[in-house]
Amino acid sequence: QSLRELPPSKDSLLVRLFFSGSRDRDDVLSELRSSELDGFLSALKKRHPHQEEFHQAVEEVLESVWPILEDRPDFQKANLLERLVEPERVLTFRIVWETDDGEVRVNRGHRVQFNSSIGPYKGGLRFHPTVNLSVLKFLGFEQCFKNALTGLPMGGGKGGADFDPKGRSEREVMRFCQAFMTELGRHIGESTDVPAGDIGVGGREVGYLFGQYKRLQNRFVSVLTGKGQSFGGSLLRPEATGFGAVYFLRHMVEAKGQSLKDKRIAVSGSGNVALHAAEKLLELDAKVVSFSDSGGSIYVPEGLDRKGLETVRHIKLERRGRIHEVADEIDGVEYQEGQSPWSIECDVAMPCATQNELDEEDAKKLVSCGAQAVVEGANMPCTASAVEVLRKGSVMVGPGKAANAGGVAVSGLEQSQNAQRLSWTRNEVDEKLQAIMERIHSACAEHGEKDGAIDYIDGANRAGFLKVADAMLSQGLV
Ligand code: GLU
Repeated sequence: QSLRELPPSKDSLLVRLFFSGSRDRDDVLSELRSSELDGFLSALKKRHPHQEEFHQAVEEVLESVWPILEDRPDFQKANLLERLVEPERVLTFRIVWETDDGEVRVNRGHRVQFNSSIGPYKGGLRFHPTVNLSVLKFLGFEQCFKNALTGLPMGGGKGGADFDPKGRSEREVMRFCQAFMTELGRHIGESTDVPAGDIGVGGREVGYLFGQYKRLQNRFVSVLTGKGQSFGGSLLRPEATGFGAVYFLRHMVEAKGQSLKDKRIAVSGSGNVALHAAEKLLELDAKVVSFSDSGGSIYVPEGLDRKGLETVRHIKLERRGRIHEVADEIDGVEYQEGQSPWSIECDVAMPCATQNELDEEDAKKLVSCGAQAVVEGANMPCTASAVEVLRKGSVMVGPGKAANAGGVAVSGLEQSQNAQRLSWTRNEVDEKLQAIMERIHSACAEHGEKDGAIDYIDGANRAGFLKVADAMLSQGLV
């Protein structure tokens, strides 16, 4: 089935409605819609086989935007949807490097340059053994809408390699980054594609990548963000994703007439996003009751204090240790091996680890313990069936493309500072970040209003989509 014939116009839906007998109009319309959408998705699955994460991300966006398309014959005539789900360019390359023992290793690297209609491609690099094209296409697709929501001129892209930095020495990480950039360098540029960090790529890796780019191209330009402060990095960039997610959560809670004070927040992950989200939560007097890593979770019944958070930060970020070591160092902290934090009673869950880490069973537990909201610090951490359970259980879901947009937003601010050859104070960046998160919340509220409540998933998808789609339309058939 061709993707091209879909979706239907409102007129064609109404004609079919006319022939469908006397059943309820809304039921028939939604049935027709979902069968057309199914057709589009099954064609997509054939065209991008075995890429489940990518299918999942596309399906979620299309479910939200399908009703808009019925009223936009201009989008349909331009075949916008089919164009939107096809990355503009996908690069795959070999990376050869040498371990400290002189063994020669081969990894596979990619850059997915998804959509450049509103600005140069922008999005992180992920170094993790699970990296493949499905994961990077889902991340690149999400990034297009996330970046659009920030209001800054950034297109969508994502890249990375199936390299596992765990257990590698400093010099091995440096050699790998240099080998990776030796190939990637020819495909990126400050006005073409500007990568940054993601899982497995932090300040250290961005530094090595930047150094190699500069060496090869003999140009000191803003080709990466998340740089060190001594060579053009923005203040607050490391904190931005976690802080931004909490600013977003604060708006969600305030829209319900409440505050974050004393709310119990279960956080997963213990990397950059999780730790900075926790820092901001403590500042706002909320209680952080958990963290996790791939080995298990820690549970802190009374909530962690600042000293405890500093211990976690030291163990995870400086020592590059494991989360169970926290339980050995702080009294009253329980370690739950192999467990995620989702069976802990909480008011809010903040999954800040990785995709599909919160499934249907976890969602049921959150609904039954009376959780009010799930806010995605990671990209697509809730499975599709988890989202369905949460929506049915009236748990608000702040989707990653809105809630974690603070990271890439401050990356955009880093580019602005570099372009002006100056750097803003921490306060200036924080004010701008807060204003951006507030605007994203308002855009979600405007486009996601449903029966007096806000569906943040629909709101984020629609607002992001409209911006990208309008830009594509204006630029003709490119
Ligand atoms: N990897 C981050 C994200 O998922 C940040 C990307 C960037 O700063 O370009 O949005």
